[in-house]
Amino acid sequence: MSNHIEDQLSAYMDNELSETERRQVEEHLDTCPECSELLSDLSGIRTQVFTVFHSIEAPEGFENKVINAIALKTTPENVSKGSNWLLFPVIGLLCFITIVLVVMGSYLFKFGSIMLKVAYNLIHVFGDILGSHTYIIAGLIGLSIVLIVASSISIKQVLKRSGFKGANW
Ligand SMILES: [Zn+2]
Repeated sequence: MSNHIEDQLSAYMDNELSETERRQVEEHLDTCPECSELLSDLSGIRTQVFTVFHSIEAPEGFENKVINAIALKTTPENVSKGSNWLLFPVIGLLCFITIVLVVMGSYLFKFGSIMLKVAYNLIHVFGDILGSHTYIIAGLIGLSIVLIVASSISIKQVLKRSGFKGANW
């Protein structure tokens, strides 16, 4: 039980492992309840994140606006104009909310490694969608969303464990 396979769970879910690695992961999962639980947490968080992204896409034209705003901001001649000054306060606010939520949920420490891995994947997804110029900003937004979702799950679990009846959201 000493060699947990947390590091490989993300790649396992993405089918990025070799045949041998995959078999090792599955063998470990058969014998290790901790890693099995981690895997189901991880897939739960992913489902939540994708749900969030789908709900974000709902407003008409919102996605294009964000992409345009980011693209404008990162175009060299527009950076000095500060024409999209609103973008950074919004990111800042997201980060602030994130930090507050993370601090609240931080004692569920095992979520830390999951969040990082999901965030890492998301940064790649965003990078593919938006191109390498917007890599960092998109990654930051993605990271914030992931952390908020993951934190809300952590808090929910804490509330459930402490027997709080109103935690049914
Ligand atoms: Zn394990």
